[in-house]
Order: sequence, then C-alpha cells, then structure tokens
Amino acid sequence: MQRICLNCGMSVSDTTSYCPKCDNALNLQHDGSTITVDITHNGERVREALQKMEMEIGLARKDVAKCMRLVVGSGLIREEVLLALRDLKFRGDIIDFESESFNAGAVMVRLK
Ligand SMILES: [Zn+2]
Repeated sequence: MQRICLNCGMSVSDTTSYCPKCDNALNLQHDGSTITVDITHNGERVREALQKMEMEIGLARKDVAKCMRLVVGSGLIREEVLLALRDLKFRGDIIDFESESFNAGAVMVRLK
C-alpha cells in the first residue's frame, strides 16, 4: 500500500519509516485529526474488545490521525483497556492516553 508524505507530498510505501525524498519520519506525521472507534458496540467480551483495540491502534499508527477516541463503555472493559493502554505506552506504541473527564466511557489515546 502507498501513503502520502505529509511533509513533501511524495507517494511512498507504507512499510517505509522515513520518506526517501525529504527524510521525514513518516510514523510521526499526523494531520491533527482524531478518529473515534467504538470497541464495545457489538457487545464484545473483554478479550474481543482488547483485540479490536490493538488492531485499530495498529492500523491508525500507519494512518495520519493524531488521536484515537476509544469508546469503551463502563465497567470491566474500560478497566482492562486502561491496563492495556498503560502497557502500549510503556512499549512506545502510543504516546499517551487519558480518560475523558466529562465522559468516563471514552478514552483519548494520543497516537503521535
Ligand atoms: Zn517527504
């Protein structure tokens, strides 16, 4: 698959980490946007919700969004998601995350 370098506009392979033209770090580029992903709306169990979250974050890291808003609902899934995100942050897969203060059922993840 191809993607566009946001710095110089060159079309590059999505397996490349650095733009061959301008040398910009492609995995750090973002357009400031936020995508919303609901990982609980199909009545997923905890493990399914976590798998979905990891998959969505993996995809989003190759995309241009800056943040991902994870709709986690309340209860067990939310608790497990927060634990998993702590792990992802430790591994450097995400920059940071925080529960939305006005909406405990959603978590904002800073991807880039
Ligand atoms: Zn470039």
